[in-house]
Order: sequence, then structure tokens, then C-alpha cells
Amino acid sequence: MSCYSFLNKLVQRSKKMSPHDLELLSSYQQLLEEKNKELLKKDEVINQLEKKLEDKELLIKYLQNEIDKFRQVVKPITQKIITKQLSLGEDIWCVNNNNINNNNNGSDSEPQSLEPRIKREGISAEPLTLSKWDLQIKKIAKSSRSRELIKAAILDNDFMKNLEITQIREIVDCMYPEEYLKGSIIIQEGDVGSIVYVLEEGCVEVSREGKFLSTLTPGKVLGELAILYNCQRTATIKAATDCKLWAIERQCFQTIMMRTGLIRQAEYTDFLKSVPIFKDLPEETLIKISDVLEECYYANGDYIIRQGNRGDTFFIISKGHVNVTIKKDSHEEKYIRTLGKGDFFGEKALHGDDLRTANIIVNDPEGVTCLVIDRDTYLQLISNLDEVRTKYVDDIDDRRRLNEEFSTVRLEELKILTTLGVGGFGRVELVQINGQPNKAYALKQMKKAQIVETRQQMHIMSEKEIMGEANCDFIVKLYKTFKDAKYLYMLMESCLGGELWTVLRDKGHFDDNTTRFYTACVVQAFDYLHSRNIIYRDLKPENLLLDSRGYVKLVDFGFAKKLQAGRKTWTFCGTPEYVAPEVILNKGHDISADYWSLGVLMFELLTGTPPFNGSDPMKTYNVILKGIDAIDFPKNITRNATALIKKLCRDNPAERLGYQKGGISDIQKHKWFDGFNWEGLVNRTLTPPILPSVRNVTDTSNFDPYPPDEAGVPPDDLTGWDRDF
Ligand code: AMP
Repeated sequence: MSCYSFLNKLVQRSKKMSPHDLELLSSYQQLLEEKNKELLKKDEVINQLEKKLEDKELLIKYLQNEIDKFRQVVKPITQKIITKQLSLGEDIWCVNNNNINNNNNGSDSEPQSLEPRIKREGISAEPLTLSKWDLQIKKIAKSSRSRELIKAAILDNDFMKNLEITQIREIVDCMYPEEYLKGSIIIQEGDVGSIVYVLEEGCVEVSREGKFLSTLTPGKVLGELAILYNCQRTATIKAATDCKLWAIERQCFQTIMMRTGLIRQAEYTDFLKSVPIFKDLPEETLIKISDVLEECYYANGDYIIRQGNRGDTFFIISKGHVNVTIKKDSHEEKYIRTLGKGDFFGEKALHGDDLRTANIIVNDPEGVTCLVIDRDTYLQLISNLDEVRTKYVDDIDDRRRLNEEFSTVRLEELKILTTLGVGGFGRVELVQINGQPNKAYALKQMKKAQIVETRQQMHIMSEKEIMGEANCDFIVKLYKTFKDAKYLYMLMESCLGGELWTVLRDKGHFDDNTTRFYTACVVQAFDYLHSRNIIYRDLKPENLLLDSRGYVKLVDFGFAKKLQAGRKTWTFCGTPEYVAPEVILNKGHDISADYWSLGVLMFELLTGTPPFNGSDPMKTYNVILKGIDAIDFPKNITRNATALIKKLCRDNPAERLGYQKGGISDIQKHKWFDGFNWEGLVNRTLTPPILPSVRNVTDTSNFDPYPPDEAGVPPDDLTGWDRDF
């Protein structure tokens, strides 16, 4: 009972009360009034304090942004430090540490608001060429005890346990022995690593910056990030006793991954070609089907199909034998024939006839392995892919005419006004052509020596080609290239609305509408690229620029690549938080990896943080490998947005929205985009959600200020690899 109702009751009874009780009652009433006044005062104080807190939070946010801006601008020094701090993860020694941050807040312990936003740099391994793939991988004999130990160490490792068992077997085959005497250094902090080890005998000491961290004993994988790409070792590992290790180089690991993928693809497509309903399908479609075939095992005597049942799956036998039997008029099952490797059954189910007309029974003491596909998956792939692909007719002349306007421009005629940004290989400057004060351009300068050092020559050539030809309003145009002894230069259209990354940093996150607009711009850019079989591979807010009207354009095509129809590519490329699982697992990837990153971008724009996030790259990769279903979606992501993100971030590339028979229009038609004015976007009549203020062609107020470059003059490079640049 509340004190009011209690007092009321007392008042009701007061007529019968004694004078003493009445006095008591009145003193209670007085007390209550006083308490009430006190409470009101306290409420007021709380209100004032809450207001103060709000103001302080705003101030913190403002200061945080200022710090972020500052950090960004002095990136060459601070980023190194921060990257180092971020990579203080235990990828080398705590190989079994499952301490992965799986929430959406970014860091393992810090609250989101205190975490500085740092521009993320793309990472790429050196491209794998076919000649490397042709290399015979060398197998090294080893005892079965050693084989078991290596296998167990791999299966115990958060990242490597995700590899396929055939790949693990080949890695075990190829590892070679290394011995280290007590006191010698196995991995040196700061070195660039390319070898991964498994410790077989002895123990090792892990330290960083001279400080002891831990001791490791046999059965551990050491330094596994190095098998993905060149990376700096984040700790030193010293032999504490005489040690025996097994080692594998990145090149050998990647060859194994690529070979197993390609061999399997070739084998599966061959199987498919022998099936009448598949034989006339284009190679590209067969490759897609072979990618979604699932390997299933059945034990001897199992009924794979039972007569009279309904089913929607089709089977090809890849190993073992089955018997086909038919039962007529409820008599005994009659043996019809035996099927073996390459034979198939259940094909009618793919075209809708789902009543099974025979039994298929395993007749093999070792069981049977089948490649299986179901009707829905099959129908999603078989279709008008070619129509989708050839929807555009390129007006190459139109684009050439545009570039021709710049054919006579010389490098010496360009006047640098200010720095717009800093990329992996150098600065991007705002420039004007002498005598043309009404126009300004972005000039990207790249240090040749650095490109060679990081073996990115092929990527740069491909960037020039793709950007120079792309004729799409959602892609930054490249007009002309130049080169001298030290640099390569790209003269591009300038986008003075600034980076989407900066806008996101300042706003924290975007609402559904704003996110939809920017995502739609990317969808248009991807539509253009993918219909030409070009994969982008580096989607992130850092690579999206706002033009002066507030429309977004894709920039930085350093990782973009034109693929042959139906083919994949194997080079590890991208930015850790955005790479798709098949890239991490070296399975080969194609345009479907871009759809994955589109889902990641949507999430980051809506929340301010990407969904897959660890305190170092290896941890991020392990979170990615756990999949989107392991991620908590904050409440501000609507149901429709969640549904689209989950459809884009499917583990299986073939299941991603955009990659199926409807192509990218499946994304445009998704309910999250219901009512979105696609036509207005394409015609540029739609008003963007954020309107940048750009006063004139040289207004760079939307960019952070950059201090002068203090990196010094790079060395010459005259090796001639850039002949065609
Ligand atoms: P990139 O080397 O291509 O990654 O570019 C580095 C940074 O330079 C970008 O993040 C932008 O801030 C800026 N930038 C690059 N291209 C342009 C452009 N066409 N217009 C304006 N700013 C640009």
C-alpha cells in the first residue's frame, strides 16, 4: 500500500480517532509534505546534472572528433603507433585464445566512443600467377607421429582449423623441418614474415619489446598471419631449448589452396558435362553449379533415394557404387543396375518432377560420396546470366573523347593547390591546369619504388586500365596518367564533398534513409563493374567520395580486376574488416566477394562500426569465419536492413543476393529499397540526404588538413615495368 492511500485511510477513520491520534496524523501529513518538497528539489538537481552530463557528452564527442581529425592528419607517425597497439593481439603466442570480440562495439574492452576512428589501409598479397600454380609442390617425408602432431596443431588453431581436410593433408605433406639451437631467434618482431611454423620439440619464449610474454610448448602453430600476406611480426619468438619445428612458406600454402580449388572445380565441371541436362550449359554456369555442389557421404546399405518418396535433390556419384532397384506392385525390389563414379540420379527433381521412381542403395563397403544440389539452388543459378552480363553496350568513344580533351596536358602544367588525402603509395593533390581557373582536378601521386617493393605493379596497371575506361557517374573518372623516374600520376575528376568516411566519423552513424542512398550509389557502381566482370575488392567508407552535390563515387581501384567469365582469382586483397570468408580461406573469389562487402558497408553506415571486428587482423578474420549469424544486430538496424545484410553476407558466395539469377537487380528489388527512387538516382534528380557545402572548384573545406609531406624524396625506379602506364 502506498503512503498516500495509507494516510487517506487514516483520514477516513479520523472521525473515530482520539486527539492524540489526530495530532500524530497531522504531524505525519506535515512530514510527508516536507519529504515531497525535498524530493522535488532532488529531482531538479538530477535534471540539472543530467543536462550537464549531456553537455559534457557532446563536448567529449566534439573533442573525440577533433582528436580523430588530428590523428588522421598526423597519420604517418600515429597510425604506425596505433596499428602497433591494435596488433598487440596474441596471434603468435595465444594461438588458442578465443577471446574474440564478437559484439559490435569494436574493441575488446574500450567503449566505442573512446576508440579513435582510423582510416583502414587495404592489404594485398603479391598476385599469384599461373606459373606459380604450375609449380610442383614438394612433399617431405615424415613420421606418422610428426604428421599427427602437425595435423593436431592445425586443427587446434582458430584460423587454420577452417581449412578443408584435403588442404590440411597437403600442408602436412609439404611442411619441412627446421632446427633451432637454444637461444636462437625463430621469429623477430618487426620483420616481414612469410613462414608459418608448428613447434614439434622443445619450448619457445615469446616477448615483445624485450618484455617476456609467455612460453609455448609443442603442438602450437606460430605466426599464421604470414601465410595470408606480407605482415610484420608482432612479437619475437626465441628458442628456450633446442627446438624442432615444421615450416611452410606462404607461396607453397597459397599454391596448395589454389590447386585444390582449381582441381576440384575442373573435376566437378567435368562430371557435370557428362550429365545430359547440363551438357549444353555455358562453362560459366557449370562452374557456378560446381561451386555449390555439396559433398555428402552415405554408408553401405543406406537408401539415398526411396521409391515413392518426394525429393528435390540431384546426385552425382564421386566415389563408390550404388544399386538401383524398383519395386513393382508391392513385390520384391528388383535389381536394375549398378552405378559408379560419374553416374547420376534424381535429375528429374531439378525440373520439378519430384516423385522418386526407384530406390538408390549404397552398395560399397567403404560407402559412397555424392555431389548434391537441390532444385532451389539449381534454379537460382540457371538462367539469364548472359542477359544480365550484356545489359550494357559500352560507348568507348564517348569515354575516349573525354580523355582526349586532356591529351595535350603536360605534368609541368599542373599547379598543386593543396593535399586532399594520403593513400597507400602517396598523396592525392588538388591541382589546376595552368590557364584554366574554372576547373580543378585530383592528382594521385604514387611512389614507384614503393609499388615495386610491395609487388603491386600488376594491381596499379589494372587500376589505370579500369578507371581510365569506366564511364559511370558512380565511379571517379581518370582522365590522364603521367610518370617520371620516381612517381606515377593519375589525373582524375575531383570530388570536393569529401570522404564518406569523414562524414561518418563526424556523424557517428547514419539513419536508414541516408544509408539507403549511399548504398544505392554503390549498387549502381557495382552494377556497372560487375556487368563487365570487374571485381572491386576494396569497398569501405574511405573509398567513397562525395561529389559537390552529395552523390557518392567509388575511388581507388588498386585492387579492382577484370575476371575472365566464370573464372575466379586467388590473390588476398582488401581491408581486413571487409574481406569475404572465401578470400581469407584462399578458396578463390569473384564478384560475389563485393556483395559480401556491401553487407558490411551497410552495417557500418548504420552503426558506425563494421560487424566483423577484432583487435588485430587475425582476430577479425576469425570473427568473419564465424559468420554473420554470430553477430548481434543493434536495435537501430531495421528488420528489412538486417534481412538484406544477412542475404549479402552469406558464407556461401553462390547464395549471396546479387550473385543469383536476377543479378544485382535482386538487391535493387529487396524490400529495404521499396519505394526508393532508382530512376531519380540514376538521372541525378534525387536530392542526396547530406548536402555538402562546396563554394567553388578549389574549396577543400570538406577535407581534413594535411601537413607537408616529410617522408623525403623516394628513390628512382627505371626498371620499365610501367611502360604502358
Ligand atoms: P587513394 O590513394 O585513391 O586511396 O586516395 C587517398 C585519398 O585521397 C582519398 O581517401 C581521398 O581523401 C583523396 N582523394 C582521392 N581521389 C580523390 C578525388 N578524385 N577527389 C577528391 N579526393 C580524392
